[in-house]
Amino acid sequence: MIVKEPVKISPLTSARHQLSKVADILGMDPGSRERLTYPDRVVETHSPVRLDNGQVRMFPGYRVQHNNALGPYKGGLRFHPDVDIDEVTALAMLMTWKCALVGLPYGGAKGGITVDPRELSVRELEALTRRFTNDMVSVFDPKKDIPAPDLNTGPREMAWIMDTWSVAHGYAAPGVVTGKPIAIGGSLGRAEATGRGVVANLLELLKFKGQPHKGARVAIQGFGNVGGTAAHLAHLAGLKVVAVSDMYGGYHNEDGLDIPAMLKYSQANGSLRGFPEADPMDNDALLTHDVDILIPAAMENSITEANADRVRAEFIIEAANAPLTPDGEAILERKGVTIIPDILANAGGVIVSYFEWVQGQSELFWTEDEVNLRLQELVERAFDNVANLVTSKGLSFRMGAYSIGVGRVTEALRVRGLYP
Ligand code: NAD
Repeated sequence: MIVKEPVKISPLTSARHQLSKVADILGMDPGSRERLTYPDRVVETHSPVRLDNGQVRMFPGYRVQHNNALGPYKGGLRFHPDVDIDEVTALAMLMTWKCALVGLPYGGAKGGITVDPRELSVRELEALTRRFTNDMVSVFDPKKDIPAPDLNTGPREMAWIMDTWSVAHGYAAPGVVTGKPIAIGGSLGRAEATGRGVVANLLELLKFKGQPHKGARVAIQGFGNVGGTAAHLAHLAGLKVVAVSDMYGGYHNEDGLDIPAMLKYSQANGSLRGFPEADPMDNDALLTHDVDILIPAAMENSITEANADRVRAEFIIEAANAPLTPDGEAILERKGVTIIPDILANAGGVIVSYFEWVQGQSELFWTEDEVNLRLQELVERAFDNVANLVTSKGLSFRMGAYSIGVGRVTEALRVRGLYP
């Protein structure tokens, strides 16, 4: 029986802890350290929505712009009951490092609405998304701050945002969001990009370690956009996906799950609940299952000091943002587990968001093969840069990735100088 972590771990405390560690490694000057510890801007809204029963309810929403030394603020919007200012600020910081690490001309931002979207009808959800966009109309901008999908948001929500912002400004502005439907300027390959990047990182890691990928055993927590795609591509690459879960529970099959059947089932039923062709398993048990590779692809703080010592995987690929607490990570590092950090592992999403934005600006659209090829190139280049630091300086993959990301932002701050 797994004991759940009783204390809510502050994602912002964890993010600042990582920044402080890398600042020491880089010997960063105190001024840059201070500037990067705090976000540039925090916007909080309360959006009223008339529910289907006639009542009016207020929904808190946030947009945190962490830093734009390298370019416009960029980052996802999530709809989830746990969204708060602390979480969004931490995730905005991660976006700054991630964009810098993979060489995109973007800064970092994140936003969200505190809501359980399962409790709203589609009409209520659309009203909320549009009202929130209206309340953020001077914050979002193709040149200033560009949202994208995240937990419980996808092309549908991006289309509502693009339409609302465009109506408010009197012209069509597809560049105000990425992750849009193809019909209004979305990029081919964007929907699968994050999961594709996760699996590309996984294959690079196994190559780096000199281990074969065929038949390697994988467990994946979360079966949404990222986890579902990662499961599918890992399965197609010949890895054996033996356990997956979503918020309702997990399933396992030691001979390998039928991932295409599970994707079909989940799409038809909205979740894996009741999937008949595999053995159910406790969601937490998935994290400590006997596998070679564990891919947390759901929420923050899945692996903490309460369960880290029972994790049996040799490799962890952080498909979700911040799935490990610092205490959980310290235990895993002592056990010799190799961790590919979120800012490298899940960067495929923002990379193809950038491609979508570039295609929109140039009004020239690429084939899916071109998108996937360029994505693969950027992921491989970022992985190699980090792996070089792992080999040459003995850093962990996280500290290697942070050194590059934070180092590039610090250099941009230095050459831009401090106004006034
Ligand atoms: P999603 O809403 O499509 O899917 C989330 C999945 O996690 C669902 O299957 C849900 O049932 C499951 N889940 C939720 N709570 C769970 C729990 N306690 N245990 C097990 N499963 C649980 O979201 P997504 O877009 O796939 O995002 C997942 C993670 O990836 C998030 O951390 C997000 O920030 C990160 N991420 C997403 C993108 C992107 O492009 N979508 C890009 C970078 C990072």
